Amino acid sequence: MQIMSLAAGVVMAGEHILIVEDEADIAELVEYNLARADYDPQCVATGEEGLVQAREAEPDLVILDLMLPGLSGLEVCRRLKADPRTARIPVIMLTAKGEEEDIVAGFEAGADDYVTKPFRPKVLLARVRAVLRRGTGQRRREDDVVDLEGLEIHPGRHEVRVDGEVVDLTRTEFRILQFLASRPGWVFTRSQIVRSVHGDDYPVTGRSVDVQVAALRRKLGAAGPLIQTVRGVGYKMGD
Ligand code: CA
Repeated sequence: MQIMSLAAGVVMAGEHILIVEDEADIAELVEYNLARADYDPQCVATGEEGLVQAREAEPDLVILDLMLPGLSGLEVCRRLKADPRTARIPVIMLTAKGEEEDIVAGFEAGADDYVTKPFRPKVLLARVRAVLRRGTGQRRREDDVVDLEGLEIHPGRHEVRVDGEVVDLTRTEFRILQFLASRPGWVFTRSQIVRSVHGDDYPVTGRSVDVQVAALRRKLGAAGPLIQTVRGVGYKMGD
């Protein structure tokens, strides 16, 4: 597709998106919808080709099917994220419906978001736009003050306020909140939260993340619902 547009002398202004999908009809559907939305899509059918193209074409985003012949989508994602040349390229995983464990594994492998098949093109496009937007410097620095619908986090002062009132949090609760708020709308798995917090007051496990989040929500009161459960995956901060 890319070669065709180059040959026609068309200058594509949209972001270059690499689609790694072995099912031709799905690849075509995704490619068609991306092109119509003024992106510059390119399809490959195997993980091996995906890795080569990700390095050569330096796409702005990779849409990666999980079930591929040969190298699996998970393995492709791991290799993309392990290679400094491709580690920064965001990855959206395509997974079959109900494979929640695969979604978790995808996030562990470094995927930035996922879409379950069958999907509506509109939904995929919305995810593509969101991931590309996040990629352009939306990530907050650790010391930035966060202000989300009445919830303020002051990292320097280790202080949290809800509607102006100081909320008393433990060190672990504060870290979890700060971690989730570092990327609003971004889903974090329990083990990513554990790794980010690695509590020094006591060991943090996946299960105890649930306990901590429950306590956090309670203490945050009106702002508690900002912390959303993503079933089978983990948590995110509402955006
Ligand atoms: Ca497939």
